[in-house]
Amino acid sequence: MTAVDDARALLARPAVGVWSAPGRANLIGEHTDYNEGFVLPFAIAQRTVAAVALRDDDVIRVRSTFAPGSVEVSLAELDARIAAGGLDWAGYPLGVAWALRTAAPDAAPRGVDIALASEVPVGAGLSSSAAIEGAVASALNDVWNAGLDKIALARVGRTAENDAVGAPTGIMDQMASMLGEADAATFLDCRTLETRPVALGFDEAGLAILVVDTLVEHAHSSGGYRERRASCEQGAAAFGVPALRDLTVDDLPRAAEILDDVTFRRVRHIVTENQRVLDTVAALDADGPTAIGDLLTASHASMRDDFEISVPELDLAVETALSAGALGARMTGGGFGGAAIALIPTELVPAATEAVHAAFAASGFRAPNVFTVTPSEGARRDA
Ligand code: ADP
Ligand code: MG
Repeated sequence: MTAVDDARALLARPAVGVWSAPGRANLIGEHTDYNEGFVLPFAIAQRTVAAVALRDDDVIRVRSTFAPGSVEVSLAELDARIAAGGLDWAGYPLGVAWALRTAAPDAAPRGVDIALASEVPVGAGLSSSAAIEGAVASALNDVWNAGLDKIALARVGRTAENDAVGAPTGIMDQMASMLGEADAATFLDCRTLETRPVALGFDEAGLAILVVDTLVEHAHSSGGYRERRASCEQGAAAFGVPALRDLTVDDLPRAAEILDDVTFRRVRHIVTENQRVLDTVAALDADGPTAIGDLLTASHASMRDDFEISVPELDLAVETALSAGALGARMTGGGFGGAAIALIPTELVPAATEAVHAAFAASGFRAPNVFTVTPSEGARRDA
């Protein structure tokens, strides 16, 4: 059964439509999004599907194959239920409904049953959260005649995640999930929200992206992520700029003088990472994907040593992939767990997979999930 079939089956009524949105892998540009910088994610083939049926009342009922039971909220009490919190996973789809109503005052909200099924691994750094937001936002945009474009729907997803769920994430994931294209990454300026597809050409170059999901759980709404954001804000404030986006590598010597060591290293990660994203885009445009390996690996070192968001499992995944012939490798996503990606010749994927499993076993780490991802199409209506 596909996720579309699963969502239809869970709905248990004829659907008026089926929508889906993908997870994403971030090729490069980590923690730069909330610093108004640059990112280069791509949508993956794994998707979250929302099947929708209309109701005669004003209730929104959400179900997911992810969790048993259903959650029901009437449109009349939606604001209060979101404000009260405690909705757990249902905070994502209901938060999207809530945010969409605000973003599109001319929409015609009505009661719906929403059934969700997903192929995106949860908490793996592949943004199952943006996938569920993108699927539900796309569905309600059509069913409620909200008329928002994809960028506006990405904003709706982010508002849901920030203000309804309470995870202070940037807009990268939602933009990648909404705007993805096959064989391309989405270059995004997180300040202006200008985007451009950047051809990846992995197939032609005989390259694949291998994901190592360490199964180490992360939680964006907690500790480390907030702390990193606070350090970035502190660094920007010390320079009197709105965001670290406004600094360049030329500002780093001065940053070393005026900031404490930890804040300096946090700032250095963001500033150099922004530059690496620009360099990666330029390298892809000029020379194709074989030219970007060192940039990926440098990004990982910066996250490990300066931003300090890696964990031993991620470092091992990166080192092992490189030893097995990857051109470059890095952790992806928010950090503190989740997944690493490696850019690797396709014919080396089986051996690298085996090497990663062997290395994890030898270190006494839980066996990871190792699989490849393919740059794929963004949110869409499926039926
Ligand atoms: P990531 O986005 O990296 O997978 P997050 O912590 O941001 O991790 O989001 C994961 C959360 O999103 C899950 O714990 C769950 O609450 C919600 N979620 C994701 N996919 C689904 C789904 N198909 N059904 C219900 N909830 C989901
Ligand atoms: Mg997420």
